[in-house]
Amino acid sequence: MKKQTALFWLKITLIIYILATIFVASLNYGMQNIVSPKQAKVIHQIYKIFENEFKISLILICSFLSWQVLKKQKNNKLQKINLIAFSTTALFIHGIIPWLLNNRELYYFFMPLPWSSLGLQLLDSTSTYYTQQLNLWGVSGIFIAVVFFLISNGVVLLGTLMIGRRWQCSYLCMLNGFVSEIWSKVFPIFGKKKKISSNLLKFLNVFRWIMLGLSLILTTWWLFRIFGIPIKGSKEFISEFEVIKYLSLELLMMMFLWIIWTGRGYCYYCPLGAFLSLISKVIGQKIKTDNTHCINCNQCTQRCPMSIDIAKAASKGKAVNNLRCVGCGHCIDICPTRTLSYETHFIKWWRTKFNHPIVKKD
Ligand code: SF4
Ligand code: SF4
Repeated sequence: MKKQTALFWLKITLIIYILATIFVASLNYGMQNIVSPKQAKVIHQIYKIFENEFKISLILICSFLSWQVLKKQKNNKLQKINLIAFSTTALFIHGIIPWLLNNRELYYFFMPLPWSSLGLQLLDSTSTYYTQQLNLWGVSGIFIAVVFFLISNGVVLLGTLMIGRRWQCSYLCMLNGFVSEIWSKVFPIFGKKKKISSNLLKFLNVFRWIMLGLSLILTTWWLFRIFGIPIKGSKEFISEFEVIKYLSLELLMMMFLWIIWTGRGYCYYCPLGAFLSLISKVIGQKIKTDNTHCINCNQCTQRCPMSIDIAKAASKGKAVNNLRCVGCGHCIDICPTRTLSYETHFIKWWRTKFNHPIVKKD
């Protein structure tokens, strides 16, 4: 397939995904409570088909298209791994696991704490969410969802402890990560690629911690309730607030940023990303550079979706351990002299012990 044809279809499919998301979210969040129970059931079915069958098909088709584009590029190893990982995650989260456990809404619990408190709300038998889901799933369904939520939290935590944010942001994230990798070649949808201004970057660097603070407050609030510790605030208000936050600051803003700026726009202020970046710091996540091979071509910096100046660090032989780094590996792939490599303490240990890299440099 020609590169231009694949790029054209990637853009079209992304527009379709955005329109479909807006349509289904409007139905689900705007209409659900004002229509008859029969119509609400139909809306619920549409939402489930969108989140499962539609999403899997789209991800597989678009990963194939993206693969066709990557094939024309000389170095593409890490981006290909990202595509394979996201397609596999989508198959498991939106297909195989829901089918095995007979629950097609388990994906709700795949973004771990502190991003969403839905899993905690399921542990509070007085919450509105618990009551709603009890009617739909029964007690055994709630139990399965809670176990899935705990396992997915454990998997993300363990994976991040070993290989940094690459684990979540380049392999698992079914919110923004998969879109930013699968459609990485077609952002922004309208207009030319834009460089972020230093003022906006400063604002986002602060806003990220505000979002994390807010998520931690909400998480703590639900934990207090679960453990029976008295706390002020109405559960209806808190749940409503979280839905509004999700729809406005997260879902809609994320898509707006795809249209005008970059696929990773939301990652600049994602609370989960901020939380994982702190863990990544502890486990020594970095992009290693080597100034004896760096030819100062600046391609790594231009390619970085998180506006990190890798070339500057590479020219001095310094490692890049910026908190914004999502570990996507685009800088490593693009480097013409194969100067850069991804590392954490665990990856280094593995390489030394088994003489075999987990994340391999060509
Ligand atoms: S920063 Fe957040 S939204 Fe972005 S890929 Fe990571 S977890 Fe997903
Ligand atoms: S520094 Fe490299 S790995 Fe990190 S976000 Fe930028 S391009 Fe991705």
